[in-house]
Amino acid sequence: MTDGGNVLTSDGSGATAHEDLLVDFLNTLDVEELTDTLASEGELATWATARGFVPGGLEQVLAVRNALRALASGEEAELPDLPVRVAITARSVTLTPSTVAEAVLASALTLGIEGRLRRVKLCYAHDCAWAFYDRSRNGSRTWCDMGVCGNRAKVRTYRANNPGPPR
Ligand SMILES: [Zn+2]
Repeated sequence: MTDGGNVLTSDGSGATAHEDLLVDFLNTLDVEELTDTLASEGELATWATARGFVPGGLEQVLAVRNALRALASGEEAELPDLPVRVAITARSVTLTPSTVAEAVLASALTLGIEGRLRRVKLCYAHDCAWAFYDRSRNGSRTWCDMGVCGNRAKVRTYRANNPGPPR
């Protein structure tokens, strides 16, 4: 799908592209560092305000994050029920989210309708699991960064296939 039509838009996410908002949101959980930027209502409020959203309920936000992270890692995802206001004309559809959960859902919906949601992925290295948007031509990228996680995996495979001298 080309960018000419502007058929589906989403208000409230400012200038942030849908893929950027979604990736940014998924990476609030850092599996490698074991940190969570959305660990409390206060942190959620900070994250939301910085992006022009109403925080909404933390529990709902975390449920959406779990579902979308599962989806990005290629699993089935069950989203919680969320209202997203929709304005429609013959030429365009506009989603108007207000809370963080609604905003990331609107972005995921938009990417899904545009056929781009499959490009939102989690790094194949399970101890990394960093979210990224696959901009490769054929959409076959599996590592967040080939130079880091891709190499680490290659080294691991090499070691497994080439064990050192017996101790
Ligand atoms: Zn990685």
